[in-house]
Amino acid sequence: MIPQWIIERKRDGHALSEEEIRFFINGFTLGDIPDYQMAAMAMAIYLKGMNPAEIAILTDVMMRSGDVIDTSAITKPKVDKHSTGGIGDKVSLILAPMVACCGIAVPMVSGRGLGITGGTLDKLEAVEGYRCDLSTEEFLRVVDACGCCITGQTGKLAPADKKLYALRDVTATVPSIALITASIMCKKMAEGIDSLVLDVKWGAGAFMKTVADARILANSMVSVGREMGKGVSALITDMNQPLGRCAGNALEIRETLQCLCGEPCADLMEVTMALAERMLLLAKKAPDASAARSMLQATLDSGQALAKFKEMMALQGADVAMLDEPDRLPTAVLQNDFNALRGGYISGVSADHIGRACLTMGAGRKRTDDTIDFAVGISDLAKIGDAVEPGQRLLTLHANDAFKLEDAERLVAQAFTYADEPVARTPLVAEQIG
Ligand code: URA
Repeated sequence: MIPQWIIERKRDGHALSEEEIRFFINGFTLGDIPDYQMAAMAMAIYLKGMNPAEIAILTDVMMRSGDVIDTSAITKPKVDKHSTGGIGDKVSLILAPMVACCGIAVPMVSGRGLGITGGTLDKLEAVEGYRCDLSTEEFLRVVDACGCCITGQTGKLAPADKKLYALRDVTATVPSIALITASIMCKKMAEGIDSLVLDVKWGAGAFMKTVADARILANSMVSVGREMGKGVSALITDMNQPLGRCAGNALEIRETLQCLCGEPCADLMEVTMALAERMLLLAKKAPDASAARSMLQATLDSGQALAKFKEMMALQGADVAMLDEPDRLPTAVLQNDFNALRGGYISGVSADHIGRACLTMGAGRKRTDDTIDFAVGISDLAKIGDAVEPGQRLLTLHANDAFKLEDAERLVAQAFTYADEPVARTPLVAEQIG
């Protein structure tokens, strides 16, 4: 087979055969097909799309490019949750221990921040000692011992995706339904899970800017997962404003601890509960949604979920004393309040601007080799619908550099819109699929 002929067929809008997709992806993974041909193919897929059968084959080939974890020794139902990424999204950190307390194994392979979106691993690394580079054996040992583990993608898990994602990132080919579906699902299917709940974000701080686009992506991922024999359901959730009241790595660990200690931020807990509830239903651990909610709430009220989070962190090498005394987490030297420019009701809090402000202060990476400043970010964020007086605090910026703080201030000044009349909150869960 000749790579450029296959590129030509996709460029002209034809469906590729299984042999063509296997040849291309395997050739790229082994280094026989160079980056420039893969980049051209990614752009052809971005522009012409793929049908469901092509996407399922692409996912399967990418999954089989590395190890598929054998979790058969774990007898509990194995269920994971995956979010397409957003600002202030620390749901995994709260949900994994809660669900594990309900008798489900949660083997979670998470990622780092992409662009303005935060990464679960970056947040966890704010706690000294925490390791996200577990071998497969270590990963399975932690899941077996405490019921949940959050680690990173090893070189052996879906290496085709690791290589292709890096190329997509620099060739403007990330927001393709076919490529995102295959990228996410190949990693999730390689984890050895029985079922998966997807949190597909829509809005200013998400890859998918509209509910309609998020629905297409959700349907695509649900159908690929089901074709591969897994129970999959998806929620489409709002990412127009950040989730919770904090964004930035150590600040989000603090907010996680508050939620696990029973001082929840309403929107963050609503999304966490909705996703965790689906996990319990898929695992058949609860007869209905309301029973699932009661079980989940009990893990918070009893302190079991908090204890489970600490147990998981300890097994992954973290200095758990930092979780007992959150003041020991990285803290920024500069803390400036940003106040309301007028009175009224908050009608918009742009997740995009808040995400960019956090990135500017160093909470994320502009280049893949940038180091993260765990201490910086924003806290005490006002939410849509809040009534505010002129001069009232809308958020606090945490920075370690005065120039970066000024840049971030300019960005957050553009994040808020106001209304004179009370503002209705839009539903956090827009739709449920599957
Ligand atoms: N997350 C992934 O893992 N892959 C994508 O393509 C987008 C988000």
